[in-house]
Amino acid sequence: MKKVSIQPGCISCGSCQFICPLVFEVTDHSRVLSGADLSMNAEKIKEAALKCPVKVIIYEE
Ligand code: SF4
Repeated sequence: MKKVSIQPGCISCGSCQFICPLVFEVTDHSRVLSGADLSMNAEKIKEAALKCPVKVIIYEE
């Protein structure tokens, strides 16, 4: 996995961090942790993107 980003519109529900805490950190909004191993966590990132209620997690494989 090459890239993960959060588009505007995150409602800070915490779901992505719960599913994949090694990649996502949710404070006032979700962000991708710098240095996160995207390839190692690819399946969890996809699951987080699928379950994001507002569909703002975008990834490039
Ligand atoms: S799952 Fe989506 S809405 Fe919820 S904190 Fe993560 S990016 Fe934001």
